Amino acid sequence: MVSLSLTDEQGPGSVRVVPTTARSALRKIPDTFPHDGNVNPFIGCAHGCHYCFAQYTETYQNKKDFHFFSEIKVKTNIAAVLDKELSRPYWQGKLINLGGVTDAYQPAEKDHQLMPEIWKTLIRHRSPVVISSKSSLILRDMELIDRLSRLTFVNVASTIITDNESLARRIEPGASTPVERFSFLKNIKENTRASTGVHIMPVIPLITDSAESFHQLFARSVESKADYTVEYPLHLSGRTRTHFLSFFKKEFPEKYNVFIPLFQAKHVDQSYFTKLRSVINSIKSSYPLGDGYMELFNQRLVTPQLSIDFD
Ligand code: SF4
Repeated sequence: MVSLSLTDEQGPGSVRVVPTTARSALRKIPDTFPHDGNVNPFIGCAHGCHYCFAQYTETYQNKKDFHFFSEIKVKTNIAAVLDKELSRPYWQGKLINLGGVTDAYQPAEKDHQLMPEIWKTLIRHRSPVVISSKSSLILRDMELIDRLSRLTFVNVASTIITDNESLARRIEPGASTPVERFSFLKNIKENTRASTGVHIMPVIPLITDSAESFHQLFARSVESKADYTVEYPLHLSGRTRTHFLSFFKKEFPEKYNVFIPLFQAKHVDQSYFTKLRSVINSIKSSYPLGDGYMELFNQRLVTPQLSIDFD
């Protein structure tokens, strides 16, 4: 059992870690996404971000007794299952998203060490990969990331919605600090051939949407040698809506009555969205940052790859 000051009800408590076995490792993704498949070594995530979209994904929405933040299922056989699935011709060269639903480097990974075997499997199959994590534990596997990045496309990203450390701690209580996240991105950029990016999403209206905050995040992304940033506002639906509104009311009571009218629907108010996009575009235009990894992926496909042996 891993102790962490978090429960699904936002009070102090502990995280229960439950080993389980997976029947499949790769999940096909609809054509609207840039990657082809998701691999999630865990069900649930102890990073406990209050805006977490995964609480309402198809996998979890019908499980009334499932505690997303405080009960973590660990797929102990995932690397072996992945190895079998990647051997099928369909998956050859397909872009894999590692941890597309839950963070692959959340606290349970420290003890269970699923990721080194997963990286080795991906290296054997030369599978191009994207991964986004909020944990500097990813640095433990930098040598493996480097090996894969010498063979094929690898993109490492981190979601960083604010550079205010105490605000980040309130919103994302179990994740590495923003300083640590920028630091691991820089480290990976300098020591591997992976490209890197910063996901400034969700932008939380009234909390992380100031021009000053975007300037800080873009400047620190450039300092950390990130190739790109992506920005998108908060989306509130299903369980995430219930959870986040309760969190917001408790943490930012003075802003609640202004916040609520912006979320009459799942998506933020359209006029707010248009204005936000325009402000972001205007600020971002003065920083040398791209808008995503697809251009880098396409470039890498036409660049000759290095060849190394790995065992
Ligand atoms: S790291 Fe990702 S999956 Fe984990 S709680 Fe935060 S948003 Fe959800």
